[in-house]
Amino acid sequence: MAKSDAFTALRREIAAIPVIDTHEHLPNEADRLKQSVDFYTLFSHYCAGDLVASGAPADTMAKLADPNVPAPEKWTLFEPWYHHIADGSYARCAHLAMQRFYKVDRLASLKDAEKLTERIREANKPGLYRKVLKDACGIVTGLNNGGTGVDREFFTPVRFVSELAEVGALDRIWAVEKESGRACTSLARYVQAIGDILEAEKARGLKGVKLGFAYTRPLHFASVPAADAERLFNRVFDESQGWRAACLGYDETRPLQDYLVHQLAAMAGDLDLTAVFHTGIQAGNENHLDNGRPERLWNLLLRYRKTRFDIFHIGLPWVEEAGMLAKYFPHVWVDFAWAHAISPEIAARALKIYVDMVPRNKVLGFGGDYAVVEKVYGHLELARDNIARALADKVAEGALDPARAVAWARALLHDNPIAAYKLDIQPLD
Ligand SMILES: [Zn+2]
Repeated sequence: MAKSDAFTALRREIAAIPVIDTHEHLPNEADRLKQSVDFYTLFSHYCAGDLVASGAPADTMAKLADPNVPAPEKWTLFEPWYHHIADGSYARCAHLAMQRFYKVDRLASLKDAEKLTERIREANKPGLYRKVLKDACGIVTGLNNGGTGVDREFFTPVRFVSELAEVGALDRIWAVEKESGRACTSLARYVQAIGDILEAEKARGLKGVKLGFAYTRPLHFASVPAADAERLFNRVFDESQGWRAACLGYDETRPLQDYLVHQLAAMAGDLDLTAVFHTGIQAGNENHLDNGRPERLWNLLLRYRKTRFDIFHIGLPWVEEAGMLAKYFPHVWVDFAWAHAISPEIAARALKIYVDMVPRNKVLGFGGDYAVVEKVYGHLELARDNIARALADKVAEGALDPARAVAWARALLHDNPIAAYKLDIQPLD
């Protein structure tokens, strides 16, 4: 079968596969409907990072994000920078969403920006999420980072927990006291309180905990004796006073973070929650990329074998390294969340590598990772193209037969996320 035939046949099959979306940052629909939207809404979030990198000044970015600035003024500010980012894959997610929902292909003039603004406002009403996530995307559920308050019609809850391990000031301890109802007067009681919180959240349907430390420090979490961690925990009490709220520096508290991350990894295993680690590229600008190397998690993965780990963003750009972790450890999955939008080229290459070296049940194929619902559709279209392209290449090489290529796509988009998060959904195969 010629490569293009394999692609066309696969792309058609893939469009019909129901999707379990492994990662979103979406507000509930009611909160989205309260937002004042305009054409720039579709270019916020990741596109904003590209606009900054292209040279857009800080005051321009502030005005673009301001809902009170009228669309014509925004267009004048946006247009010169838009041309620099319009061919990138972040912008492609926006363009695909514009075409599908608002019948606008590209923004060539103020007239287009006004047309898009009018149509996105018109559509900002109840039913928007159903139209996008169910009708256009075919998403069964999305693992959404909003905690247990997320709308269960569309989402399954995952909670961001990095801050539970970032204890450099009293306010973090007070917050855990308040939520758990347990006095956190010692490190042991603080750990118990975190456990209480996660156990209560689990009872409300929580399926995973997400740690975002790649944004703030390297991903190696050392084995720290409890006594060393407790000394730091006690210093937060002993050295905080009145107006001196944050008494310890970020790096100074790192052994305490290390200790608490180990505790969280253990608790996730005990509570049957999936532990999600951000690895690789960080969103926004001026990040320290090297912090995110996936291999740094090795000691944690080796130690907490009862815990299921989801390695996000395929460790991009270290996609081979992230794949190796899923190749080594039976309790580790490698996850394409966000990756198809960052670089379809790298993502397709990564999938071809994973077909060669990672078991089929260990790769998670799509996570939108968006805060603007329409863009989930744009990203999913890129992901479907990419998966078809990579698998068609493997078919053309003779490495996969066409039926097994379809089985890969079904596993990637539906069955593997069910297993990685123990979701109560019937697998396809
Ligand atoms: Zn994310």
